[in-house]
Amino acid sequence: MYRTNTCGELRLVDAGKKVILSGWVQRSRDLGGMTFIDLRDRYGVTQLVFNMELDPGLCGEARNLGREFVVQVHGEVMERSNKNPKMPTGEIEIRVNRLMVLNSAITPPFTIEDESDGGDELRMKYRYLDLRRNPLKNNLLLRHRMAFEARNYFNSHDFIEVETPVLIKSTPEGARDFVVPSRTNPGQFYALPQSPQTFKQLIMVAGYDRYMQIVKCFRDEDLRADRQPEFTQIDCEMSFVHQEDILDMFEGMVGHLFKNLLQIEFKDPFPRMTFAEAMAKYGSDKPDIRFGMEFTELTGEVKGKGFPVFDPAEYVGGIVAPGCAEYTRKQVDELTEFVKRPQVGGKGLVFMRYGTDGILKSTLDRYYTPDDLKRFAGITGAGPGDLMLLMAGDQKLTLKALCELRLEMGTRLGLRRKDVFKPLWVLDFPLLEWNEEEKRFYAMHHPFTSPRTEDIPLLDTDPARVRANAYDLVINGNEIGGGSIRIHEEELQKKMFRILGFTDMDADRQFGFLIRAFRYGAPPHGGIAFGLDRFTSLFAGEDSIRDVIAFPKNNAGRDIMADAPGEISEEQLKELSIQIHKI
Ligand code: ASP
Repeated sequence: MYRTNTCGELRLVDAGKKVILSGWVQRSRDLGGMTFIDLRDRYGVTQLVFNMELDPGLCGEARNLGREFVVQVHGEVMERSNKNPKMPTGEIEIRVNRLMVLNSAITPPFTIEDESDGGDELRMKYRYLDLRRNPLKNNLLLRHRMAFEARNYFNSHDFIEVETPVLIKSTPEGARDFVVPSRTNPGQFYALPQSPQTFKQLIMVAGYDRYMQIVKCFRDEDLRADRQPEFTQIDCEMSFVHQEDILDMFEGMVGHLFKNLLQIEFKDPFPRMTFAEAMAKYGSDKPDIRFGMEFTELTGEVKGKGFPVFDPAEYVGGIVAPGCAEYTRKQVDELTEFVKRPQVGGKGLVFMRYGTDGILKSTLDRYYTPDDLKRFAGITGAGPGDLMLLMAGDQKLTLKALCELRLEMGTRLGLRRKDVFKPLWVLDFPLLEWNEEEKRFYAMHHPFTSPRTEDIPLLDTDPARVRANAYDLVINGNEIGGGSIRIHEEELQKKMFRILGFTDMDADRQFGFLIRAFRYGAPPHGGIAFGLDRFTSLFAGEDSIRDVIAFPKNNAGRDIMADAPGEISEEQLKELSIQIHKI
């Protein structure tokens, strides 16, 4: 027997028991006649004590143990004279009478402590050591419990988990496919699923009514901020549902996770906002509504007074930073620098200070009268003590820059607390997005998303104005889930492919299997998928999804531990009928 107990388990009531523990040497301390060792396993840390006077041989052996040695000890549980209230096992220690080294360890390249001294790359290379640290371990435990509770909820609502294939034909979800060459079909390739979208729809056609799956998805994207080429979805689909049924079911699931994992209960239904409103008020389709500071548009108000920045602008608008009227020159300059960063893309910032004395000051006095300024303050809702921050320019770019500025101000003012959670449904997304470079429409969600019934006639006359029957769940500015009611009629689906620039032949070649399925009695259906990685990182209070993934890739999409991707042998290439073109 390797152990009678774990290292996190023993308490004062166990004093006097003879036990066997196994684990890793976390730390050892020699204090004169005594040697103390912290023994660690997944469940916790227990202090071992060796006494030089009682057993000099054993104590000598203990002193030779290095960090991360794997050992087994036999001993007796004793009450500690020097208790440590910070450790769950802090009231006891084990007086060891037998020690066995199960495996030695070379010195780890960084300390296995909550706050490690290892840099990112080093910890990724030795991920199995990093995973020994409490912060990562706790994240993986949390992730496990989230998946478990999600399944619990779905099981109690008649969902069944169905596995869908990983080697498939391409499903466009707006990214590039990863492809896998087929040895048995020379020159042909499978794609890895960007999501199980078409399969879950076929499961509805098959009549299974409620499907879920915790599933890996693969997207070959340029790795922008905090994306992984492979990630996990909680993927769901339901039959005979309207949008309202879906929102209701999944609000229940999200509420279940909050309640069971964070002990947070939402009293009210999640607020809802249309895409148009989100863009106008927050410049984003995933607004962080933990704080206000909504945009106010002033385009019509400020023009015609000769101010050369505002007069030609397509859009002028701003936010009010509460209580910031006394910002110093330096603070104001910092904000201007911030908006001019290429990632933010602003041209500049106009400030108006509303002094606590009620006097408005700005650099625009040449163009606007005190009454004008008062009027602007009134429209934006600024009051004494506030600072108004205005931007102008092309509408789309200015809204985006204002969004970044708003988030920055929210952070500076401490309004984005990690222990406050504000979910929001964003609805009525446009169905299509125009790509100016390629002069064609793309599906904003994916090509299987249904238009809103009342907008279907617009497909022929003004496709850009068609709203989709699609919804996103946003929490604290993160898109946690997204889905839609699907098209389930052959003709509408074909029409959608045509609008997206597919010829009927192309559509048939790529999606014939789905279109054909619609001929055999497809029920109305819809679904949603949640990003499990992002959801877990939100619950864990982590900024990066990497911290909740056991073996993530780095920013260049590499697994630097296993050193993948890598080359394959000439023989393998030959088998796959593949020749490498060196460019
Ligand atoms: N397949 C979609 C996605 O991955 C989700 C859905 O529409 O259910 O975003």
